[in-house]
Amino acid sequence: MSSVKLNPLQDKPVLDPPEKLRLLEQIQQWGKELGFSQIGVASVDLTHAEQGLINWLSEGFHGEMQYMQTHGLKRARPAELVPGTLSVITARMNYLPRNTSTVDGYWLTQELSRLERKDEGVVSVYARGRDYHKVMRQRLDRLAQKIQESVGRLGYRVFTDSAPVLEVELGVQSGLGWRGKHTLLLNRDSGSMFFLGEIYINLLLEPTPKQEAHCGTCNACLDVCPTGAITKPYVVDARKCISYLTIEHQGSIPLELRRKIGNHIYGCDDCQTVCPWNKYAQPTELEDFDVRDELIFGVKNFPKSDQLINRGGKLVDYFSWTEDEFDLNTRGTAIRRIGHERWLRNIAVAMGNALASYYSQNLSQSNIKNHLPLSNVEIGEIEQSLHGRLNHPSSLVVEHVKWALSQKDSVSQPAQTP
Ligand code: SF4
Ligand code: SF4
Repeated sequence: MSSVKLNPLQDKPVLDPPEKLRLLEQIQQWGKELGFSQIGVASVDLTHAEQGLINWLSEGFHGEMQYMQTHGLKRARPAELVPGTLSVITARMNYLPRNTSTVDGYWLTQELSRLERKDEGVVSVYARGRDYHKVMRQRLDRLAQKIQESVGRLGYRVFTDSAPVLEVELGVQSGLGWRGKHTLLLNRDSGSMFFLGEIYINLLLEPTPKQEAHCGTCNACLDVCPTGAITKPYVVDARKCISYLTIEHQGSIPLELRRKIGNHIYGCDDCQTVCPWNKYAQPTELEDFDVRDELIFGVKNFPKSDQLINRGGKLVDYFSWTEDEFDLNTRGTAIRRIGHERWLRNIAVAMGNALASYYSQNLSQSNIKNHLPLSNVEIGEIEQSLHGRLNHPSSLVVEHVKWALSQKDSVSQPAQTP
């Protein structure tokens, strides 16, 4: 959130209708030059969204995210959150890395196959490059400064992924897309793989037209969600969501959810990779979101030949990082925010799931039809790696490591794979 203050209401610039239109076109052009994929304008009236927000909070679906509750209805009232706000400029920025194979949605197949390789860890696509908070904020600030230079006396405040703002609702109101049943914003031309940001301004602009919703009878995101976090269309219980559990949640991961986390070690894209509209997701033009080898492959300078056969980061490689290596490998990325302790906690859960997967292989054929069998060597490395962390100073890490090792005993005898 930018610290720039809005000017008092009486200082607001006033434009006539043709000037407003010209300015909007100019803002959209500047937005394009700054790497944004689309710019819209929303009014500050979000009263229709208030009841849904009240219901969501009263159910406790925000979990430990107390900051969600702190701002209460101010989140749905931009002019109360930032007095003097008359319009909200909304922006979205595609984030699929520049080299993503988007032809026929090939990247979706690649992402789905990662989930089947249980000895690998999966980091959410958006987190594999530079921290988007920095990228978005800097560019939103530059856009706001350009508007200020153009109209003079503009008061503004910039937000991106910020708790006090109903970002998806503002995106819907300004025509950046429609709200999918997974609650994220969806766009016909770009799916849902983009970041959102807003500029609150004390300038009255005409809202840009809304888009129609196109989920129809599809329920793919609800059906695929591993933890049942999408409790009904358009409602997510964050306490069950893997993104929340692996990023926002600070303590022990609830036992009943650990097996459902699979090999997700930071975030979860399942409800997005299954969404038919993401066949149309677009790569970004910004090099900031280029993938860092160490985040997606677990090691620097990952061999190109292994990338071609679609190998990803091994859990044992991620788990071997010392605190210093974690700091170094995640510098400038969103992952750094969770710290080394939660990083190890998450990977321990994924390792426990790999053990459970391996040792249950001969329980029933249905257990292996959806994932690739692990070898004795791979499973031996995982067990050895877990044992190596049993003396970690963090009781949180040790508890998850013990749980992971116990998954071997929670199922039957090992399968005889080479
Ligand atoms: S991010 Fe994953 S866990 Fe969360 S709602 Fe989507 S599919 Fe479910
Ligand atoms: S998966 Fe289907 S229901 Fe879910 S957001 Fe996409 S189109 Fe909508």
